[in-house]
Amino acid sequence: MFYIVVIALLMGNTLISTAQETRKPMMTPGGQPILTPQGTPVYESASNANVMYYSNITQRDSAYMHKTYGEVAKRILQHAMKDSASYKRLQYMCDTFGPRFSGTQNLERAIDWLLQTMKSDGHENVRGEEVKVPAWVRGEESCVMLSPRPYTLSMLGLGGSTATPKEGITAEVLVVKDFAELQRRSSEAKGKIVLFNAQFTSYRNTVRYRSEGAVRAAEVGAVASLVRSVASYSMRTPHTGGMRYQDSLKKIPHAAISTEDADIVARMTERGEKVTLRLTMNAQTLPDAVSRNVLAELKGSEKPDEIVVMGGHIDSWDVGTGALDDAGGCFATWKALQILKELGLRPRRTVRLALWTNEENGLRGGAKYAELHGAEKHVLAFESDGGIFAPKGFGFTGAADVFKAYKAAATLLQPIQATEVSVGGGGADISPLIAFGVPQMNIDVEGSKYFWFHHTHADTPDKIDPLDLNKCAAAIAVMIYIAADLP
Ligand SMILES: [Zn+2]
Repeated sequence: MFYIVVIALLMGNTLISTAQETRKPMMTPGGQPILTPQGTPVYESASNANVMYYSNITQRDSAYMHKTYGEVAKRILQHAMKDSASYKRLQYMCDTFGPRFSGTQNLERAIDWLLQTMKSDGHENVRGEEVKVPAWVRGEESCVMLSPRPYTLSMLGLGGSTATPKEGITAEVLVVKDFAELQRRSSEAKGKIVLFNAQFTSYRNTVRYRSEGAVRAAEVGAVASLVRSVASYSMRTPHTGGMRYQDSLKKIPHAAISTEDADIVARMTERGEKVTLRLTMNAQTLPDAVSRNVLAELKGSEKPDEIVVMGGHIDSWDVGTGALDDAGGCFATWKALQILKELGLRPRRTVRLALWTNEENGLRGGAKYAELHGAEKHVLAFESDGGIFAPKGFGFTGAADVFKAYKAAATLLQPIQATEVSVGGGGADISPLIAFGVPQMNIDVEGSKYFWFHHTHADTPDKIDPLDLNKCAAAIAVMIYIAADLP
């Protein structure tokens, strides 16, 4: 989830690059150059900037949108609200197959069911495209306080972490608020377990302790590292997530503990008490496994080779059932495709649903999609991966004139108050398409509770309001239909 995180995630991955021609750098509507995750500019080319696919785009103002698409939008909004069938399917998938972690049979069984269901619904070009994904297995794990009092902490190992020795790692804890404090106190870190106790400010700012904590702690000689869960609220729920190592440094075990437990340890050390923990993890990394991206289409009526791709990621972490992250995004976009199909709406260009695999701990599905399809004529890539709550609008990265047209299109979503379009949009799985100059869009939702549940045992279907799923699907269907149909 969340675009910025992509940058960290992509560090370890090979990105696909296109042959560079002489072309102009693409700019955001605010006039900033659009950069790839590596920080290099994204260039426009005749085949790859979506402003090129539209004619007279500057004339597509809100009056045009209301005149041309007002009726269609009304029908879409009505149709989207008529039942909760998609929500029931989301519940069924989460309950039946459980967490959909990369490398597991759960995930592949869920994908089999999706392919079968989409085929029997009559969608076009339904297929699975194979992707090799990492297979990390959590195994048994625990984090126990030995002194000043015996206490079992609420913890989750972080995805990709190494194991501890069988008997665990027993060491004194050094608590730091941030990387700067670790630097100042680096002489105290040797042989200790470092706990990064950074308060949640935003996901973007706080996730670095989860992503980089093991590297920074290993640099100063720590034997293991812990991170305060990246969470905006907690009921002693630990939050797992991705992390990385640096090959030149010792790979030390890295785990998250609940915010409450991080606070207990921090308070004890502030009082001058020496806190000793025993961390035990027997995680393993197995050989890569085969998974699949799930694709389905609504072929365009006039320009079938021009594509608007939309989707979410079908994999989840190995805890909870990944309802918000990201079954919700998958089902909202799938429902958007269904709405168009059921209403007999066939836009000029092809709408392609893509449910990417392995976003969480590898981004291999998004990378594979770009490798196989990046050179096709993508007019727009859209992702929903910020949870399903009341929709507010969209984020968009692309040419200024197209931004204005999409903003005008969003005025049709006034009945569900999803009219905001802001500069800067994207998603982890569509980010590899940036290198191909493909404009990026995401749905924005009222996500103030997202980080209560993100990557926890509590990410289950009850956290999604079926009405919000319908509203998100409606907003997506209207925007995607127009993006695919504009002359
Ligand atoms: Zn996600």
